[in-house]
Amino acid sequence: MSATRKRFIAGAVCPSCNAIDTLAIWREDRVEVVECVQCKHHQRQTEAQVEKHIRPQEQVIGIFHPE
Ligand SMILES: [Zn+2]
Repeated sequence: MSATRKRFIAGAVCPSCNAIDTLAIWREDRVEVVECVQCKHHQRQTEAQVEKHIRPQEQVIGIFHPE
């Protein structure tokens, strides 16, 4: 395996299984790859799309408290 640096997105919600903090993100070529470690949901997107889809979700978490 190559030394791909994966990082987890704090507060991000998986769009497939709705789990929190399970999304790992890393870069392949010029594409950001996002994978849920729980359900293996997988998506590729440009950096701009990551900003658009992941960042807002982080903030939404602060509003909706799933308790
Ligand atoms: Zn998932």
